Amino acid sequence: MINFNVATYTDKTTEYILDVFNEKHASGDGKYTKKVHDWFKKNLDCKQALLVHSGTAALEMAAILANLQPGDEVIMPSYTFCSTANAFVLQGAVPVFVDIRPDTLNIDETKIEAAITSKTKAIVPVHYAGVACEMGTIMDIAKRHNLLVIEDAAQAFDSFYKGKPLGTIGDMGCFSFHETKNIMSGEGGLFVTNNEKLAERAEIIREKGTNRSKFFRGQVDKYTWVDKGSSYLPSDVVAAYLYSVLEISDKIQAKRISVWQKYYNAFETLETQGYIRRPVIPESCTNNGHMFYLLFNDLETRTKFIAYLKENNIYAPFHYIPLHSAPAGETYCKTASAMNITNKISDTLVRLPMFYDITDEQLEKIIKTVLNFWRR
Ligand SMILES: *Cc1c(COP(=O)(O)O)cnc(C)c1O
Repeated sequence: MINFNVATYTDKTTEYILDVFNEKHASGDGKYTKKVHDWFKKNLDCKQALLVHSGTAALEMAAILANLQPGDEVIMPSYTFCSTANAFVLQGAVPVFVDIRPDTLNIDETKIEAAITSKTKAIVPVHYAGVACEMGTIMDIAKRHNLLVIEDAAQAFDSFYKGKPLGTIGDMGCFSFHETKNIMSGEGGLFVTNNEKLAERAEIIREKGTNRSKFFRGQVDKYTWVDKGSSYLPSDVVAAYLYSVLEISDKIQAKRISVWQKYYNAFETLETQGYIRRPVIPESCTNNGHMFYLLFNDLETRTKFIAYLKENNIYAPFHYIPLHSAPAGETYCKTASAMNITNKISDTLVRLPMFYDITDEQLEKIIKTVLNFWRR
């Protein structure tokens, strides 16, 4: 069986994890968390980078930092993971869904302005498959309407828009290190911001609403409960795993992008013949090799395709059920425009196996099987 995803470990993973036990500091903010923070501050060139226990946690921190009042609205796509919306629902806000673009499957920036009301407080662009949303237009809309921009960059490690790293363009950015993402620690996430005020408060929210970090830096003489918060920091064991993977991030990225390119080239004729459509990367965006998908013409063919791959021991899953049609989405969210593209994409998209350790033989088998589906 070729799985859709396989977790990555490196030669150093167990060494670093054992080193955490040698340090006798296994709770949060130990030696490896500091290394991870430094790595991201340098590589993302941002003021604050805080390791958290999940991408969901990073989004929850961003939602608390947005200072939302009950009934405030937050604009986002419906074609995303539930955490994008759930983080804001927990603060009593209402996610407002806008349809996606047919090319990148990202929020349609031309439909955002029509969804803005007097209650709108933020826009949450989700960089689907690691391909950037049209951030120029989105930042311009946000500026004119005085809205926060919170980037769901869960899939966007090492991806750029006009040369800027995703996650650092808006007011806040949220990354995930779940094992299905390019860089992983099983579970894990990162909150980033370039705004000084948000940076200071983020540190407090992550540490149960206390000024513990300031205390350890000697900036206050006792630590106490000063704000809302929760426990969002992971154990240093998680940071040690993550750091070992970060050390080989260049290799991981090179491999994933090469696998993506092999799929892309192999299926060119299928696209020319009108059977499928391949991903589109606009000129202002980069490809981080997070995901390779095929878009079918209809649900029926996709269902047959997934079954055919399964018969051949290849697991190729579809992706999101749109949030606007999920039970919790119907209860807690609103829809600003028709969801035609969202619905169509949800019915017709298939993801192919994509992971660091995929072998040439596995890749060949997948490509051959996909081509055979139409040759039969
Ligand atoms: C993975 C993902 C999340 C959630 O990240 P976790 O680390 O699993 O909590 C949120 N949004 C998007 C778009 C994701 O792909």
